[in-house]
Amino acid sequence: MTTLVDPHGRPINSLRISLTQRCNFNCFFCHHEGEHGSGDELTVDEVERIVKLAAEQGITKVKLTGGEPLVRKDIVEIVRRISPLVEEVSMTTNASRLKELAGPLKDAGLARVNVSLHTLCPESFEEITGNGTESVTTGIEEAVKYGLNPVKLNMVVMKGINNEEIDSLIDYSREVGGVLQLIEFQELEDGVEHYDSYHYDLVPVEEDLEKRSNKVVEREMHLRKIYYLKDGARVEVVRPMHNSKFCAYCTRIRVTSDGKLKSCLMRDDNHVPFVSLMRGGAPEEEIIGAFNEAVSRRAPFWRDE
Ligand code: SAM
Ligand code: SF4
Repeated sequence: MTTLVDPHGRPINSLRISLTQRCNFNCFFCHHEGEHGSGDELTVDEVERIVKLAAEQGITKVKLTGGEPLVRKDIVEIVRRISPLVEEVSMTTNASRLKELAGPLKDAGLARVNVSLHTLCPESFEEITGNGTESVTTGIEEAVKYGLNPVKLNMVVMKGINNEEIDSLIDYSREVGGVLQLIEFQELEDGVEHYDSYHYDLVPVEEDLEKRSNKVVEREMHLRKIYYLKDGARVEVVRPMHNSKFCAYCTRIRVTSDGKLKSCLMRDDNHVPFVSLMRGGAPEEEIIGAFNEAVSRRAPFWRDE
């Protein structure tokens, strides 16, 4: 198997596939994975084909996202088809449908999940997502029960909204046997107003976590740090904004829900279409060519001045 390396020396081994832009929640801050597409969606066959081809180019991990991946009626079939092709398939979800789907997804080959949980307070949860917490906490429990391990809880930290709740989320994640992932609020082009109001600096949070840890591990992906707290909790921090190290260690390429390869969450101007090639009956080499073209367009978004 080949290892793809982009023009900035970064190996590419993971594929983040957005399966839909549809969602049953309405989080006010949602960046929609940087998509403003047509609403068109890939079929199961097309998802399988792009994963197979990506795996042949060296991709070993696939993350399914959206929108909300669990609103797709064929989600279990998608996981069943692609899980034999790569080492790991995982999913980022709001968990609202995990109660009924955690078991079937595990059987289909899903390895683990990230569940978005920004607050434990029912009123704040409603304000943030437009929905209730119950289906989400039940979904988390089901994911743990079926061994979608580790269950990571994604908390986007927002000033004045939930920054006071980091410790309660740490306690909750430890109690359910999960890992808390603190995510920096990200600015996308139409979210500037939100950014100024809600961005919360995670640097002091990391300094505090370091003091409370007996071990800190740096992941290959984005050089994200995982803090092993003395009380048994595990906290990973995702801090991309203005962080050149984060981009220097980015090993990911993206697929949009309408069938384009996307080189970076933050960029919308250098996509490479591939599903139009598939639908037009293009030969395999042309689709592989599109994949390689997308890799060649990758460039770190945040760099040292
Ligand atoms: N619906 C799924 C969910 O909420 O987990 C998957 C899609 S969601 C767009 C993927 C991840 O992006 C979630 O963890 C979500 O919390 C995070 N996210 C959304 N908007 C964000 C923003 N403005 N800044 C940082 N993270 C964000
Ligand atoms: Fe966006 Fe996920 Fe919230 Fe849906 S659940 S609005 S996709 S962050």
